[in-house]
Amino acid sequence: MADLPIDLISDTHTRPTPAMRRAMAEAEVGSSQDGEDPTVSRLEAVVAELLGHEAAIFVPSGTMANQIAIRIHTRPGDAILAHPTAHTFNFEANGPAVNSGVSLQPLDGPRGQYRPEQITEIVAGWPAIFSRLSLAWVEQTVNLAGGTIWPLEVVEDVIQRAHAAGLRAHLDGARLLNASIATGIPARAYAGAFDSAWIDLTKGLGAPLGAVLAGSSAFIAEAWRARQQFGGGLRQAGIVAAGGLYALEHHVDRLAEDHANARRLADGLAGLPGLEIDPSAVETNIVFVRVAGPRPAEELVAALAARGVRVSAIGDRIRAVTHLDVDAAGIERAIRAFAAVTGARPDA
Ligand SMILES: *Cc1c(COP(=O)(O)O)cnc(C)c1O
Repeated sequence: MADLPIDLISDTHTRPTPAMRRAMAEAEVGSSQDGEDPTVSRLEAVVAELLGHEAAIFVPSGTMANQIAIRIHTRPGDAILAHPTAHTFNFEANGPAVNSGVSLQPLDGPRGQYRPEQITEIVAGWPAIFSRLSLAWVEQTVNLAGGTIWPLEVVEDVIQRAHAAGLRAHLDGARLLNASIATGIPARAYAGAFDSAWIDLTKGLGAPLGAVLAGSSAFIAEAWRARQQFGGGLRQAGIVAAGGLYALEHHVDRLAEDHANARRLADGLAGLPGLEIDPSAVETNIVFVRVAGPRPAEELVAALAARGVRVSAIGDRIRAVTHLDVDAAGIERAIRAFAAVTGARPDA
């Protein structure tokens, strides 16, 4: 099997396992748009409990979970306080502006995180004729910062300060379970005090489709209407919800393997010529390595692809994401390929 490509482009590049496919094939289904699909309802109940919220709703994608939450928490003309690396302001085709008429008010800081005090400060000095600040945003883990984890006490402070300033608080928890497994802190401790929070079923969990958005019963009632407006109302969605339920049962604890693999990859890349990486900065399953030359990042990525190792270039950095479909042997192969293309070794 040595010739199968090692795909480290994204943890969305997994394929459903045979057991997951069986669970999906055998799922009990009904009309989920009428609340009559027992598998969807079970998934929603499981995630509401997991995240410490009253209720939850199954949606086709994490992007839609973000768009629904923004629609409910804001009015057109509002601004969202978020770190400029936030997925919703970089990779959702300007959905916040298009769907809800809102913009980003960036709160910058290292590791893809801002300080909670920045919320209090910006609100205090905010002119009355500027856009209304209505929502504080946290992404856990921070995708573009390399899977960094917001510490629990910082998350709590963000929510408290947002609420004290009259803002709501939303958690983009696409990889919340990676944070939870890495720290041992339950997902509900991170997510429960937000006004809305969601997890993706298609990242480290390895399901083919879907996300689950949680909040108060009143919020979720609104979310049913918003999901319909966005065209996300589904029929016999139990088929895919079953994949999510299977993943929550079987693919959560194993995220620790992805984290160990990411750290091993980082260790293996440290010291290779022309690469800059601090392995201790790798907290979960995302590895960023800076390319300091002589060959530019895109060229290395192409050379790696020719050796069956798929990674992506983001500016002068290379990103590699570990997941369910890459094992420890695959990581060793990736390290050998990096060694070859950086000239550390003649060939691998
Ligand atoms: C992937 C991702 C999303 C969007 O989720 P999709 O299911 O791909 O639509 C949102 N936020 C973060 C941080 C992500 O990594």
